[in-house]
Amino acid sequence: MTVATVPEVGSTRTVVKLDVKEFKGKVDPDWCPGCGDFGVLNALQKACAELGRRPHEIVTVSGIGCSSNFPGFFNAYGMHTLHGRALAVACGVKLANHELTVIATGGDGDGYGIGGNHFTHTARRNIDITYIVMDNQIYGLTTGQISPSSRVGMKTKSTPFGSVETPINPLTSAIMNGATFVARAFSADGKQLVDLMKRAIVHKGFALIDVFSPCVTFNHDNDYAFFKQRIKKLEDNGHDPSDWKAACEKALMWGDTIYTGLFLQIERPTLEASEPVLEQGGPMAHRPLGISEEQSQRIIKRMM
Ligand code: SF4
Repeated sequence: MTVATVPEVGSTRTVVKLDVKEFKGKVDPDWCPGCGDFGVLNALQKACAELGRRPHEIVTVSGIGCSSNFPGFFNAYGMHTLHGRALAVACGVKLANHELTVIATGGDGDGYGIGGNHFTHTARRNIDITYIVMDNQIYGLTTGQISPSSRVGMKTKSTPFGSVETPINPLTSAIMNGATFVARAFSADGKQLVDLMKRAIVHKGFALIDVFSPCVTFNHDNDYAFFKQRIKKLEDNGHDPSDWKAACEKALMWGDTIYTGLFLQIERPTLEASEPVLEQGGPMAHRPLGISEEQSQRIIKRMM
């Protein structure tokens, strides 16, 4: 159901806003009560509704983990793929049909650990995908082991005496590898999260939003109170997202002050815009295969 006409964020185009209910999946989330992932799901439904993107224009792709069940709860095309492979599959979807809005979703273990190589290379290629990472600093689905973003000293089932590993900094990793939109949010701050999601989706290039999304069951170090006491917003501190050096400096801060907001947004040609094969003739998914019907049926039969 359409409810209003609004100007699209970041452009002069006018879009027809949709009802949030259009994006409610047929299956209800099975996350623990209080899990931060609920806030991320609600925010993405709202962001897509406000942008006027229709469910059939969107594909969500995930790997494995609590948050990777996301595509099942969101009404759009969706793929629940292999552990750590969300970005690899999302890249394939985008190259097959670059007119689709492709959103990869998942957790810190899936994306920064098992899928760390894809994270690096998707940023480097600047392919036009939005990547939303529900970062809870732990492996939740496997009942509480340290993840790549767990802090030093964190006690879990796999680190009973405290983690001795230096955590990854996903923001500086994305910036150094060439991402052109890098943001951080908190799942309990829906207003900021919806705004960042809308900006990320309309941004041309690889956009990362690392979202603090507390695991209330297995991570009692980084809970809602931990973040509420420390979070300050970049937009309240005069940060300029075109300033690469300032983005790195702010992203490195972790202590009494932890920033959320848009750290970096710059322009650089996307992979799709630079690829001559995609330049003419529209999305590859709509082009003739150049083989006979009989040949295509034989291939399909072999693959089924
Ligand atoms: Fe969320 Fe943690 Fe429960 Fe998984 S185990 S659903 S991450 S609260």
